Formats: sequence, C-alpha cells, structure tokens
Amino acid sequence: MPVDTKLYDILGVTPTASDSELKKAYRKLAKEYHPDKNPDAGDKFKEISFAYEILSNKDKRNIYDRYGQKGLQEGGRDGGSFGEDIFSHIFGGGLFGGGGRRRARRGEDTVHPLRVTLEDLYNGKDTKLQMTKNVICSQCDGNGGKSGKVQTCSDCNGRGVKVTLRQLGPGLVQQLQTTCPECHGEGETIKEKDRCPKCKGKKVIKETKILEVHIDRGMRHEQKITFHGEGDQTPGLEPGDVIIILQQKEHEIFQRHGNDLLMEHKIKLCEALCGFQLVIKHLDGRQLLISHNKGQVIEPGCVRGVVNEGMPHPKRAFDRGNLYIKFTLEFPKDNEISAKNLKTLESLLPPRSKLPKLSDEHEEVDLIDIDPESNSGYYGHEDSDDEHERGGPGVQCATN
Ligand SMILES: [Zn+2]
Ligand SMILES: [Zn+2]
Repeated sequence: MPVDTKLYDILGVTPTASDSELKKAYRKLAKEYHPDKNPDAGDKFKEISFAYEILSNKDKRNIYDRYGQKGLQEGGRDGGSFGEDIFSHIFGGGLFGGGGRRRARRGEDTVHPLRVTLEDLYNGKDTKLQMTKNVICSQCDGNGGKSGKVQTCSDCNGRGVKVTLRQLGPGLVQQLQTTCPECHGEGETIKEKDRCPKCKGKKVIKETKILEVHIDRGMRHEQKITFHGEGDQTPGLEPGDVIIILQQKEHEIFQRHGNDLLMEHKIKLCEALCGFQLVIKHLDGRQLLISHNKGQVIEPGCVRGVVNEGMPHPKRAFDRGNLYIKFTLEFPKDNEISAKNLKTLESLLPPRSKLPKLSDEHEEVDLIDIDPESNSGYYGHEDSDDEHERGGPGVQCATN
C-alpha cells in the first residue's frame, strides 16, 4: 500500500488504479473543472493536473507510492511543470522542506552503481552497502572552531575569491577571478590554535555508514533507489541524496526484455520432428521440465513460450512475464547417416519435390561449400580481366 493516497483521492481512484483508469478519471475531471468552463473551481484544475502528471508517470508514481510527499520533494527539483504553490496547496508546507520554509541550497547527490545478478532481481534481495560520507563535526557543530574564533578572511574580505588585474597591453586590462588561497574560497579562517581538534577546522569528518538496500522483486537494470538526505553533509547546505543505480550483470542463460525472459536452446533434428523434453534451472533454483509434443514441428529459429515463467511484476506479486525459448537446430553431420539409413529415412519422410522438365541444352553444375565472403576473389568477379580462364574446381561446363 502507498504511504500516502492524497493524489489518488484527488482523481477519485484507488491506489491500484490502472493507467487507463487514471486517464479516464483525469479526462472526466479535467473537463469538469477546466477554468474556461468552471471559473469558480479555484485550484481544483491545477490539483487534478498535478495529480495526473505524477501518477501517469511510472517512475514518479513509484516514488510517490513508496515515499509519499517526501519522495515528490525530490522529484520536484528536476523540473516538472508545476511549482511550489500547487504542491503546498495539496500537501501543506512547501515543496522544498516543510513548514513553509524555503529549502536551503542542497549539496551534491552521491551516485553509486550496485552490481546485481538477474537472480537478485528475480528473487529480491536485501543487501548492505558500506560507504564513507562527510558529516558535520559534532564537536564544533560545523563551525570548524570555537565560536567567536572564526574570522572573516582578511585576504579576500570574506568573499572567497580574489580579483586580480592583469595588464595585457596599453589600456587593455584583463580581470581575473581566482579562489582565495588563504581560505580556500570559504571566506573565513580560523587560527591554527583555535581550530576544532576533532575536525582540524575542516567542519566535517568522514564517517562510515552502512546503507541497507532493499531490492524488490522485479526491479530493473538501471533502476534508481534513492536514500533521501544521506549524501555528504556540508555546513549551510541541505545534504544531497545517495542514489543507488542497479547494474545487472549479464546472465549466462537468460536475457531480460521488460518482464519477459528470453533464452536460446539447441535441439537435434530428431527432437524437432519427434518431440522432446527440456530441463531448465530457473532463477529461483526451481527445475522446470518443459515438454514438447511429437507431431508439432520446431523449425529453425522459431520461438515458443512458457506462460508466467518470466520476471515478476514489480507491483503485482503473483504476476509474471513469459519465458520465451528460441530454438536452433542441430542437423546430423556429413555422412553421419549411412546410405542405407538415408534410404529408409527418405521412405519415411514426406516425398521430395519433383524436378521440372529439362531442356536438351541444360548445364550441370555442383553445389560446393563456399564462403562468399572469403572466396569472392578466387571464384571470380565479373570485372576480372581473365575471367574466361577462371573457374572454380566445382564449376564445370556441361559438354554432354
Ligand atoms: Zn579568503
Ligand atoms: Zn569540528
């Protein structure tokens, strides 16, 4: 269940509503409350549009379902066509932080790839990720020293940058702006003796943190898992997020396409004609015995499916995609079947096709095994100078 259902309530649908149900509800309400038609409806139209914008976007809906309003505050930063007004109208407080306080500037997000197997994505997994991050020094509260001992940098007058002028030529001066070397751009300095002993005046210290990453069944390659506010802390800035991006390792047998799995399997000619059984070890360790009835022929390159044996659907636990198997055929080798057996085989197979009537002038040639790529020079180009003298060993003129 989602942690918050406000946006669903606005559209008058349940949190399990399908995309088409959402669309239908949105269309109906948008029509009803359109400002042209219903000028007294106030912000209702904006609310409806906002709710639909979030819920019709798979990623945003996912985030909203999992984290509610808090999740959207993250989403609100990367644009979207709605601002803080409508957000606070719906949820109260501001888009950027609660209580109407404008959100402080944020630090950078920390992005971490996390290698996972297809098995992990199939079965779900809880894993721990150790990372180091900067946290504000608790001893000096991020001041870097005793209060009152922090001084404005005299080199740059607290601006953090220095402007120098460079004479390029008569009457031509270039203005250069550089980070102040004295305070490293911070605008303040602390005398060495006044510096905080714990952070040595750096205001932050490195801390090791274990993040518990919960990989849901059915999650995808490149899917992001966000830990809000778990990024590096910097005095005066709201910490950024830690964003884990799942990186699926290639699987030996299965390829994933959406919620479906695809694999290849080679069968023998006999199996293609007379039926076969095949055992697959699935991603959860189950053995699947797949049977194919005789009489139903498998042609080279054809694809057959097993219903509901694909990847689990991220939201509907018992719903899975399909497993598709693409077949290649292994034919008997040259001369593997004796002449006698070939004769028997021919008598069992549907009859061969008949030749058309030949004219007296026909020519006879043999088929040989040529790779058109590597042999094109030898077996003759049309623009070859002496093509008349050429002719592969298998190309003969009929002289009968
Ligand atoms: Zn300075
Ligand atoms: Zn400190």
